[in-house]
Amino acid sequence: MTGARQLRLAVIGAGASGLMALIRLREAGFQDVTIYEKAETLGGTWRDNRYPGVTCDVPSHGYRYSFEPNAEWSRVCAPGDEILDYLKNVARKYDLERSIRFGEEVSSARWCDGRWEIETTSGPQGAFDAVVTATGVLHHPNYPDIPGIDTFEGDAFHTARWKDGLSLKGKRVGVIGTGSTATQITGALVPEVAHYALFQRTAQWIAPLPQGPIPEEQKALFRERPDLLQAEYERISHENNSKFAAAIVGANPRAYEKLVQVCRDYLETSVRDPELRAKLTPTYAVGCKRLILSENFYEAIQHPNAELVTDRIERIEGRGIRTADGRLHELDVIVFATGFDTHKLMRPMEARGQDGRTLDDVWAEGNRGYLAVTVPGFPNWFMIGGPNSPIGNFSWLLTAENQFGYALKLIQRLARGNVSEIAPKREASRRFNEQIREALPGTVWATGCSSWYIDRHGNIASWPWTFEKFEADMSEPQWDDFEMA
Ligand code: NAP
Repeated sequence: MTGARQLRLAVIGAGASGLMALIRLREAGFQDVTIYEKAETLGGTWRDNRYPGVTCDVPSHGYRYSFEPNAEWSRVCAPGDEILDYLKNVARKYDLERSIRFGEEVSSARWCDGRWEIETTSGPQGAFDAVVTATGVLHHPNYPDIPGIDTFEGDAFHTARWKDGLSLKGKRVGVIGTGSTATQITGALVPEVAHYALFQRTAQWIAPLPQGPIPEEQKALFRERPDLLQAEYERISHENNSKFAAAIVGANPRAYEKLVQVCRDYLETSVRDPELRAKLTPTYAVGCKRLILSENFYEAIQHPNAELVTDRIERIEGRGIRTADGRLHELDVIVFATGFDTHKLMRPMEARGQDGRTLDDVWAEGNRGYLAVTVPGFPNWFMIGGPNSPIGNFSWLLTAENQFGYALKLIQRLARGNVSEIAPKREASRRFNEQIREALPGTVWATGCSSWYIDRHGNIASWPWTFEKFEADMSEPQWDDFEMA
């Protein structure tokens, strides 16, 4: 970067988005970049989620960095460990680990004399010109508030804290929750355990998604023809963005109708027993909760080992789970597939902005920002996956690359030298949030269900528009919307 100011930059999180940010920053000529990662290894969600059956439900050839094609995916939907290996290989190729400080959780970031003073669990790290948060959305485990939870005598753990090395073969296993995670676990575990009890509070809509192996000939073809590999990436992204993502925000009613029909037919044709089918039939609109994609859940839940328990959980006892009908479900292991606190974002870190207010103060009534990337009063603070980021709409990697591309333009503006602080105008942020409020009622998330998209104030945390709008908004900052000093 000739003629430019060398900035000292901090990225928080060495998951898929933080690694991508580091690659892009180095490519743009920024050499003084440090990633702070709370864990001892990289990989974010793919490091933390090691439960049986963990898979990405975005087809593999669409779930990768745009700049790092991979002809080697073994399955249509890649298993979690393969995605983790992909991220490790990318980190190796770009020599990323030399810039990562592992085991360093950022505890505070304070705006002080025009820079961010960062402190981690091991102490002060000095001042940085800008901060990129890449801390993810689905990473604070949500434990259920069930009486007696600590009295269980067997093993009990959250899906994102899987007990490595524990064999479940021949055991009685109870899984609480019926989201994407529990659905994947059900497909993988039912055949190997002695008894499998799935505790369902709310039924979920499921769309079928073939996930089988990719034949060797297909891999060989993709190895030889990068153009075909790229075309496949674009096809999957386009398919998802123009159909599923547009359907759930109300921009493609025909695709939405088709999706509803597909889910209804799948349930109807897959579950034979009308009583079980009735229990598995949701009472809310398809897509209101994050749609589940599976090829084996319905089959697994009808296996002789499996039981769907819909009676309310009353309490957990030493020997198992007691439901409201008085029955004790005796278990050796309880798995909490109870999701995540998705609204905590980068907290518990304390981020204190320009006027001394913290993000906790500013977000007391819900997380709000400008275009999901910046927040008024927090100069040079750039978020991947900030408030109202598209979550559950587009592939996360595609979202992250677009958001970081936008943030990079703001960082490059800082590097040019005549500006050292950039923050969005309050008016721009107010206008954006007003537009969000107007658009959300047109989305399926607002049709009346509880979901992890909705915070405790009733705000829906996702992006209520199409991918085209997102891409256009991220293509170039509206410079008039920023205060620069
Ligand atoms: P989730 O979708 O939030 O599901 C949590 C489940 O736990 C729900 O069924 C919920 O029931 C239940 N639950 C929560 N508290 C409970 C309580 N106290 N008593 C009984 N049940 C309780 O969480 P998740 O399955 O971990 O998935 C979260 C997101 O991660 C997904 O939506 C998806 O975006 C992502 N994910 C993706 C993949 C992938 O393949 N790419 C795989 C796994 C996860 P209610 O519905 O009644 O609240």
